[in-house]
Amino acid sequence: MSQRSWAEPWKIKVVEPIHMTTRSERERHIRVAGYNTFLLRSDEVYIDLLTDSGTSAMSDRQWAGMMMGDEAYAGSRNFYNLEKSVRDVYGYEELIPTHQGRGAEHLLSKLLITPGDHVPGNMYFTTTRLHQELAGGTFHDVIIDEAHDPASLHPFKGNIDLAKLDAIVHEYGAARIPYVCVAVTVNLAGGQPVSMQNLLDVWSYCRARGIKVMLDATRAVENAWFIQQREVGMGDRTVAEILRRMCDLSDGATMSGKKDSLVNIGGWLGLRDKALVAKAQNLAVVYEGLHTYGGLAGRDLEAMAIGIRESVQEEYIRSRIGQVYYLGERLQDAGVPIVTPIGGHAVFLDAAAMLPHLPREQFPAQALAAALYVESGVRAMERGAVSAGRDPLTGHNRYPKLELVRLTIPRRVYTQAHMDVVAESVISLFQEREKVHGLQFIYEPEYLRFFQAQFAPVGAPVVLDGPAEAYHAAVRSFALTGRR
Ligand SMILES: *Cc1c(COP(=O)(O)O)cnc(C)c1O
Repeated sequence: MSQRSWAEPWKIKVVEPIHMTTRSERERHIRVAGYNTFLLRSDEVYIDLLTDSGTSAMSDRQWAGMMMGDEAYAGSRNFYNLEKSVRDVYGYEELIPTHQGRGAEHLLSKLLITPGDHVPGNMYFTTTRLHQELAGGTFHDVIIDEAHDPASLHPFKGNIDLAKLDAIVHEYGAARIPYVCVAVTVNLAGGQPVSMQNLLDVWSYCRARGIKVMLDATRAVENAWFIQQREVGMGDRTVAEILRRMCDLSDGATMSGKKDSLVNIGGWLGLRDKALVAKAQNLAVVYEGLHTYGGLAGRDLEAMAIGIRESVQEEYIRSRIGQVYYLGERLQDAGVPIVTPIGGHAVFLDAAAMLPHLPREQFPAQALAAALYVESGVRAMERGAVSAGRDPLTGHNRYPKLELVRLTIPRRVYTQAHMDVVAESVISLFQEREKVHGLQFIYEPEYLRFFQAQFAPVGAPVVLDGPAEAYHAAVRSFALTGRR
């Protein structure tokens, strides 16, 4: 039989117009946005690859589910539907809905971390680590070395290095380690998966020492697909079976439904231990809302209950990751340096390799994301030193080995033609890469600075116009770097 192309396993029922801007408009927009793509208005963007978070297209069934919202304050029927979906698909008996993933991270960190504790994890995630730190914990990266090498072809770059984990356990003692946080897949390593064997090894290691294992299950379905494709002996299992087995090797999970679960808002904390659940439900009323709605409307719970079941359908997940691979392979063919293997939710440009003329202090990835927007109206995001923030003890900038720009693909939103336009835009920028200018901070917020920071080109006079001007003037006096 001849090899046939695959196509998206859906057809389009509703369309949302998008439009292209001119280069001079975009030059102005990015300047007003302080060279931070998070501060652009979405109307100023042509193809929006900022994030796959909450940007998915919902199905006709999910929209129908929205109409079935039971907006009772307590005990909404949609909560029980969601609880059943999570039990069936992820296997966690106890569920606390939260407004999104970080709500669950907040509850879990407060629940398990005592000030002075240490939390190992496979590379940090911005909100996850911040909540661990705010609860008094210290994060330790125990991912394998290959994860920090954008060119390594290791099939499971998200794996935990058991020797690194063991060294942390020896240094601080198992009693000071409430849990190990295992992200599946690892967003900041480039959407890289963890193998089933590694999950099993971490689980046995931790069990023997009374340390809990908590999954960051945000993209666990995508991780399951990689296991099916790459891990010996897993090829004939369904993604749904693999996902259940992965979750079986954990005590609980935090989840951002805005990623895998195909909804625009929502998350949850999944647990098994009943005593812990009672405490988590009690914390939930303080920070999220009653434990049967957790900051969400009944209709949101229903959309997530349905989205969870759709997310594990084989043909869906194959086309989802297939589209990411299509874009990544086009860029690779043109010689653009990207993180390999290509990840599950995004193609990551290696900004450090692409812009060797810019020192790390000039934030090459931030500069590249801004330049890509000016080039083509495509919005991407920085994942490098700006996202890594400052060390809470020394106040110095953290410079992670990876200095990346993330082209994140929303689920079921764009077609292959959009991917062609994106690839052509990146390739033409790549051919003129020496023109990309470095950036410096003009405003640096204290928490998760990448969301709201503003920059100006290094050496260039700061040109301010539009509504940002007064804002700049107000913040510049205290906002220069190194103020801690
Ligand atoms: C998005 C994300 C979170 C946080 O979820 P939100 O819904 O954005 O609060 C946590 N972990 C990972 C790996 C994520 O990608």
